[in-house]
Amino acid sequence: MTLALAAATSPGLPPAPTVLVPVGSIEQHGPHLPLDTDTAIAAAVAAGAAQVLAERGQRVVVAPAICYGSSGEHQDFAGTSSIGNTVLHSVVVELTRSMRTWAQRVVFVNAHGGNVPVLWHAVEQLVGEGHDVAYVPCATEDVDLHAGRTETSLMLHLRPGDVRLDLAEAGNTGALDELLPQMLSGGVKAVSPNGVLGDPAGASAEEGAATLAAMVRDVVTQVGAA
Ligand SMILES: [Zn+2]
Repeated sequence: MTLALAAATSPGLPPAPTVLVPVGSIEQHGPHLPLDTDTAIAAAVAAGAAQVLAERGQRVVVAPAICYGSSGEHQDFAGTSSIGNTVLHSVVVELTRSMRTWAQRVVFVNAHGGNVPVLWHAVEQLVGEGHDVAYVPCATEDVDLHAGRTETSLMLHLRPGDVRLDLAEAGNTGALDELLPQMLSGGVKAVSPNGVLGDPAGASAEEGAATLAAMVRDVVTQVGAA
């Protein structure tokens, strides 16, 4: 049985559990996806992975998501609400130190590429302090970059009522390594006026369900191995 940390009682927690902490963002996702797309995906992947791990007999607790992330590259678009690298780093470090007083292990399940450098550094610091901690990606950004077919399919599966499919349109479909230099200096808007990196055409709830299942399998494997 999986346990939601927020709904648990202190004495009701299993001893020395693994805590999965979803990490997302509140940032523009083009004209058709909600601002909390990354947070919704991270929470769904963490919940799915916790269920599989619990079925295998592991003691797993799912924490409420860190819903804000480091999203400076999207700041030219209204709605983007970023806490920046320094604050996100502190949140990850302090949460881990606190949770580790009762948890065996803390694993951050991240769905926003912009959070990766912070998570990498924070986890490196925490491991140096002796903590059992890791981060795993939901890997959407590998499938396509931002608000394209992958994220649109996932949200059609998870929250279809919040997807404005009639407003979906292609953005810049270039590869990350060719877009990155311009993005680093001018942000996402410099390469994509509508904020989309990729093309949502062809997205479907069925594809989203399959992608979610693949992400859950991937996280289960990584949590099991890490
Ligand atoms: Zn996203």
